[in-house]
Amino acid sequence: MNGNRFKCPKCGSENIQSYETIYAGGRATQTSTTDGISIGSDFSVGHANTSGSSITHLAQTCAPPVREIYRGYFACIFYGILASILGAIFFAIHPIASVIGVFVPLYKCAKRVKRVNAERYLEFAQSYKQWQHSYYCHRCGNRFIIKEEES
Ligand SMILES: [Zn+2]
Repeated sequence: MNGNRFKCPKCGSENIQSYETIYAGGRATQTSTTDGISIGSDFSVGHANTSGSSITHLAQTCAPPVREIYRGYFACIFYGILASILGAIFFAIHPIASVIGVFVPLYKCAKRVKRVNAERYLEFAQSYKQWQHSYYCHRCGNRFIIKEEES
């Protein structure tokens, strides 16, 4: 109904395309402005890896954000080994303290990794949503975001 939202805010051209469509198509061939506008609040997206050569430069610049995973568990393992050795040494002196000394830091470490990943996921979800609303103008090359219509 309100088609006016889907035009370039800079030059007014309606020859725009969503990042999603550009990325999926690899190359822009169609000029329809209503295609590819899929607005969903669903973040469960698994996007495939696209290897370099087959994708156009434009499509590459419209690639969705990549979710980064913090692999702090390696630090936990290292810490765990170190703590176990020290724990074993001190076990003879104070068994309870040495056991706590091993498990508490490990627990905290794992908790931290979990928290960092949760934060990163939120960031990713946010930038992914922004990506879904990002558009490219084929006339002037402007990149912009069209906000979700509030109803
Ligand atoms: Zn434009």
